[in-house]
Amino acid sequence: MKSTPPRHTGDARHGQFYAPRHDDPYLEAGKPAQDARCPECGVVFHKGRWAWGPAPKDAISTTCPACLRIHDRFPGGYVTLKGPFVQAHREELRKLVQAREAHEKAEHPLERVMGIGERAEALEITTTGNHLARAIGNAVRAAYDGNLKVRYESDENLVRAVWTR
Ligand SMILES: [Zn+2]
Repeated sequence: MKSTPPRHTGDARHGQFYAPRHDDPYLEAGKPAQDARCPECGVVFHKGRWAWGPAPKDAISTTCPACLRIHDRFPGGYVTLKGPFVQAHREELRKLVQAREAHEKAEHPLERVMGIGERAEALEITTTGNHLARAIGNAVRAAYDGNLKVRYESDENLVRAVWTR
């Protein structure tokens, strides 16, 4: 489960990277110098931030940080839902996760679900951002009680949320 951070040296796509480790390397490396549009998901970079909307005329084509993470299979958040309740309510929980993603993504376009994996008595959700991992954990707890532990791992700049019921 433990993933190693991406190597940025020599990777032309990410360019040089010397940001402090608390910063999101994908966000820093994926910041275009001008207006841009991601050719994969259509998110637009304008006035220094990524947002949904029509692309400005002069927009260049640049893959956004969320799509880069998806390509690299390098999540910014992990959510594990586990226990007998999960076994019995997989579909409900899946729907809740997807609804929470849709809600968060509308406001925060770089926060996306990368995948939902199934294990015995568990669902393993990976996200492109810290924020969504927390939001999913909180939404599941708000809906179904249970026990939620959220840990921020600063050296890896990622969130691990584990919910048990
Ligand atoms: Zn994209």
